[in-house]
Amino acid sequence: MASETEHLPLGVFECHLCALSAPYSYVGQKPPNTWSVFLLEESYVLKDPFTANKDKFLVLGSRCNVCSRLVCMGPECSVFYAKRFCLPCVWENIVAFPQEIRQDVEKQKTTAKMPCSKPSFRT
Ligand SMILES: [Zn+2]
Ligand SMILES: [Zn+2]
Repeated sequence: MASETEHLPLGVFECHLCALSAPYSYVGQKPPNTWSVFLLEESYVLKDPFTANKDKFLVLGSRCNVCSRLVCMGPECSVFYAKRFCLPCVWENIVAFPQEIRQDVEKQKTTAKMPCSKPSFRT
């Protein structure tokens, strides 16, 4: 089952809300070469480039279950509550979330300003 494609980047993961972008090498719940890892959600995974340890990997982000946009794991971009939700979708459906999640995103709202204000590097 060892396929060369496991080690090549499949594409570039880009968070819809922040400037994070990084090549990912796997999408799914069970990253290759990991023995006991099963992710709770389908995730975009990057094999950790800073270690030779094959078990090491980084979870970059996942797809929002409401709008299906890609968002990173950062608390200012998404929350995980049974499924992954981007913060804009959490805000739209805030009443559906439990108190602890609401407190979490409210904290983010006060620390982070305007998630849409992406700096534009293009002129
Ligand atoms: Zn992000
Ligand atoms: Zn969303």
